[in-house]
Amino acid sequence: MKILIVDDAESSRVQLRRDLESKNYSVIEGIDGVDGMEVLAKNADVRLIITDVNMPRMDGLSMAKKIHELPNGKEIPIIVMTTEVGAELKARGKEAGVLAWVTKPYVTEKFLQAVAKIIK
Ligand SMILES: [Mg+2]
Repeated sequence: MKILIVDDAESSRVQLRRDLESKNYSVIEGIDGVDGMEVLAKNADVRLIITDVNMPRMDGLSMAKKIHELPNGKEIPIIVMTTEVGAELKARGKEAGVLAWVTKPYVTEKFLQAVAKIIK
């Protein structure tokens, strides 16, 4: 099962990849919103997107909105993973069709359970 992670911080991508691969998910990466959309366009079998919010070129919420406007894009669940906790941002996330909002640092076991539930 293929998961796309989008984050401009390499350390975050490394940690997420390690956690997801421990459950045998196949992980691909984007380094910002623009890159994430390009990677998604080349990988029609992505089952879940996990994205950061603050990134250069295109932030995670703008990317989520754009993805959900694509044909078939609505079906792809998107999880936001960020240190941001602002209510206004969360409301924007909801509007963009974000399914879940995970605050960093996350609890690995709990997070992986949520992932399994979303893409089962
Ligand atoms: Mg960031």
